[in-house]
Amino acid sequence: MDTSKQRIKIAVQKSGRLTDHSLDLLERCGLKFTQSKDQLFCFGENMPIDLLLVRDDDIPGLVADDICDLGIVGLNVVEEKRLGREFEGRETLFDRVFDLDFGHCRLSIAAPDETPYTGIESLENKVIATSYVSLLRDFLERNTVNADIEYFSGAVEIAPKLGKADYICDLVSTGSTLDANGLSEVEVLLESEAVIIQTRAPLPDDKQELVGRILQRLDGVLQVHESKYIMLHAPRKALDEIRRLLPGSEAPTVIPLEGTNDKVAVHAVCRENVFWETLENLKAAGASSLLVLPVEKMLV
Ligand code: ATP
Ligand code: ZN
Repeated sequence: MDTSKQRIKIAVQKSGRLTDHSLDLLERCGLKFTQSKDQLFCFGENMPIDLLLVRDDDIPGLVADDICDLGIVGLNVVEEKRLGREFEGRETLFDRVFDLDFGHCRLSIAAPDETPYTGIESLENKVIATSYVSLLRDFLERNTVNADIEYFSGAVEIAPKLGKADYICDLVSTGSTLDANGLSEVEVLLESEAVIIQTRAPLPDDKQELVGRILQRLDGVLQVHESKYIMLHAPRKALDEIRRLLPGSEAPTVIPLEGTNDKVAVHAVCRENVFWETLENLKAAGASSLLVLPVEKMLV
């Protein structure tokens, strides 16, 4: 029996902006890996889950072709691949499972500072340099603008200076690269962050169960990120107001207190950060002995 078939493969960026966060996230899910000498493969030591370290652009294809079961990649890359396939009349063979809250950036059109830009119509009959041909084409079609798309594989921001384009369409996070090249953002096409994608290929039951487990752990790690456990004492009659003030908590546990009928203890998991203002408001509503604790692990 080929045991590698029972193992799950996750595609992760080999070296780039997403690498450290992706590996950290998987480690926080309790996974431990040993990296191969060529650094292209990480063997899962404590679970049958291995990593394939690749260029980010290859991740959607590896998941679509069922070489990897899951992949962690920017939404910008996912959408570019999905739209590219759609324009060719081909089906997308992966699903976006959930967003991972890192690698935030946006795909924007930027104009040289001296260009007078009055709105989307300013793009009409102009040349826009990008490596995101499909996302740009989709944006122009949705806005019924005719413009020429000039493919640039890198250093897109120098295209206007080289006289190759009037505008550029590229990823922006802080905007400092645009600034340094005398460019300003004029349109945002996509807000992006790292996402996890899953193959659409049906998996054998044991693999499906393992994929379910790892997705559940990832979900738990993401939820824990901002979650806090709150404990407090409250007068029974203030319970409605206190429930209302507890941020992002569904059903707090209410426990009677020994020796008193009109006071209770309230324990709640809050799915949002708890600020000093919230504690002050809870105190003003009658709460006392307030404790806020970090949540280390959560499985819902
Ligand atoms: P590879 O060698 O894997 O192809 P790359 O050069 O295409 O790497 P990186 O620059 O490492 O990719 O970016 C990876 C992802 O990080 C992007 O696709 C995007 O989702 C995200 N990202 C976040 N901020 C930025 C930014 N300012 N510029 C580019 N990408 C960003
Ligand atoms: Zn890339």
